[in-house]
Amino acid sequence: MAAAQPHSRPKPQPPREIPGVGAVLAVASGKGGVGKTTTAVNLALGLAALGKKVAILDADIYGPSIPRMLGLGGQTPEAVDRKITPLEAFGIKAMSMGSIIPGDEPVVWRGPMVTSALDQMLRGVTWGDLDVLVVDFPPGTGDAHLSMTQKVPFVGAVIVSTPQDIALLDAKKGAAMFEKVGVPILGWIENMSYFNCPHCGERSDIFGHGGAKHMAEETGMTFLGEIPLDIRIRKTSDDGTPIVASDPDGDHAQAYRAIAAKVAAKLG
Ligand code: ADP
Repeated sequence: MAAAQPHSRPKPQPPREIPGVGAVLAVASGKGGVGKTTTAVNLALGLAALGKKVAILDADIYGPSIPRMLGLGGQTPEAVDRKITPLEAFGIKAMSMGSIIPGDEPVVWRGPMVTSALDQMLRGVTWGDLDVLVVDFPPGTGDAHLSMTQKVPFVGAVIVSTPQDIALLDAKKGAAMFEKVGVPILGWIENMSYFNCPHCGERSDIFGHGGAKHMAEETGMTFLGEIPLDIRIRKTSDDGTPIVASDPDGDHAQAYRAIAAKVAAKLG
């Protein structure tokens, strides 16, 4: 009989695939308020514009904003045969805790409850056939986040950051967390990268410029593109009419679609 290995631990099981779902992609930032959800929604719509079948899952259990950004506020998904039918907007499916917990009630769950709620939203939903499931990953790099990276079968992660150091350092930690569990970083996006004044036309780099590109290059990763700080992005995203859907021929939609094309190429 082989001698027992006193210090050997069982290897963690790789997460189970989700039937019918081609690729599960994380959009993460490390820090909140940098425009991660806005980017995730417009990236998902950009992928759909390329002809992909796309859904978005709001894993930001404590601050879900996907229903509002997709104009789905007040709608509740139905359950059929103990599975939830996701809501749909602008040609993509969407699932969020914000569509299940009514009104402005805060979620006061601890880590393990969050992880199991996420599992329900991932596997207890009739996604149908999907090419890409975009997961809007919650800000932070704590235990609950690490456990999400281990339980969800991510094929890759996209990191969103604003250009200034204080956001980049957290974004770098976020990227390191995915790499630690073997999820490759597909690239970095710089949001609020610059500001063109609509009145005088002068450009201001309010939060600096180029930090995310620099960080990507320094760590040997791909830089996927930059999105300016612009009132139209803010308005459309907060009004539930994301810019890729509401102004598909505009500059900003084109920038998001160009990023989506690079991500799609990496997903293969
Ligand atoms: P996060 O998910 O990182 O917390 P959100 O996507 O919720 O950030 O965005 C925070 C706020 O910033 C929202 O009001 C959103 O409309 C706005 N915002 C995001 N990206 C931009 C941008 N490029 N230009 C203008 N406003 C933006």
